[in-house]
Amino acid sequence: MLSAGLNIVGFSWITSPAATELEMIVLDWLAKMLKLPEDFLSAGQGGGVIQGTASEAVLVVLLAARDKVLRRVGKDALEKLVVYASDQMHSSLQKACQIAGIHPENCRLLKATSSTNYALSPEFLSETISQDLTIGLIPFFLCATVGTTSSTAVDPLLSLGKIAKSNGMWFHVDAAYAGSACVCPEFRHYMDGVEEADSFNMNAHKWFLTNFDCSALWVKDRSAFVQALSTNPEYLKNKASQANMVVDYKDWQVPLGRRFRSLKLWMVLRLYGLENLQCYIRNHIKLAKHFENLIAQDPRFEVVTPRIFSLVCFRLLPVRNDESHGNKLNHQLLDAVNSTGSAFISHTVNTY
Ligand code: PLP
Repeated sequence: MLSAGLNIVGFSWITSPAATELEMIVLDWLAKMLKLPEDFLSAGQGGGVIQGTASEAVLVVLLAARDKVLRRVGKDALEKLVVYASDQMHSSLQKACQIAGIHPENCRLLKATSSTNYALSPEFLSETISQDLTIGLIPFFLCATVGTTSSTAVDPLLSLGKIAKSNGMWFHVDAAYAGSACVCPEFRHYMDGVEEADSFNMNAHKWFLTNFDCSALWVKDRSAFVQALSTNPEYLKNKASQANMVVDYKDWQVPLGRRFRSLKLWMVLRLYGLENLQCYIRNHIKLAKHFENLIAQDPRFEVVTPRIFSLVCFRLLPVRNDESHGNKLNHQLLDAVNSTGSAFISHTVNTY
């Protein structure tokens, strides 16, 4: 209510220094809660910024990465640029590629199967990159997910990050949903390898008690944003910006105008505190574990992928291995539960 009522339009530092300064501070706090490497803190070359959504986050890092590689290889090489992720990656990457002018054929969504619990295989990634290099393409962007949308799969950040680094690629980690759980020490290991990443994103508005919209994005090299997204018209010029003494978040995002969203995150962090936030996350995971046990005890059902966070993927088992009839039954169950209006189950499809 405060953030809406104050009606701050903080597009550059000078229009509302407090909005920018508080955003830098709370994102440093959150980065420390997540034990992000120091390179992501605002004291160095990096820093955090609040985007509206994870979709905007992946778009701006893709634009920064695209322009960075084009500065190296020449601007005519756009059609040779290749993006990699697993096919479990959220569709926001595909949309970002469409906006950034990456050829749809150069967006490699590599199949992830039950053999890796739907995580991206580093070997498969390496092979695909090698093949692309052989035919003269330019791998430039890898996106991994901690907590995929369909099954909360966790991609192996460390090995993937090393592959990205050895090929000079930008490595983005999408932890839109599961990043919140990583403030608990017992779940932090799912982010191991994040030190290899160039950017990391989590939605505080998903599972961190913060009102929509509040998507936290950190980068190691903020100049990559500025080089890709900065404009400098006369009417925005001011001494602080010209002297390079301040952060102008307009250069880290698509729009010019921006809300005072850090106030919401500040309120959440100050009001609940780390311990309460950890309890809240743990409780959800405990409830999911309980539900998973109930499902596992009932012979009519199957837990389809191992539960990692608070999502349980389950289905009614098909009778006599009739998968198509089984799918029909599961759809009927979904519709029956959702039509009660008292519970809502979301669905996904395993295509293999
Ligand atoms: N990434 C993951 C892993 C998600 O689960 C989602 C949303 O479900 C998104 C990205 C997109 O989120 P947003 O609505 O913030 O763009």
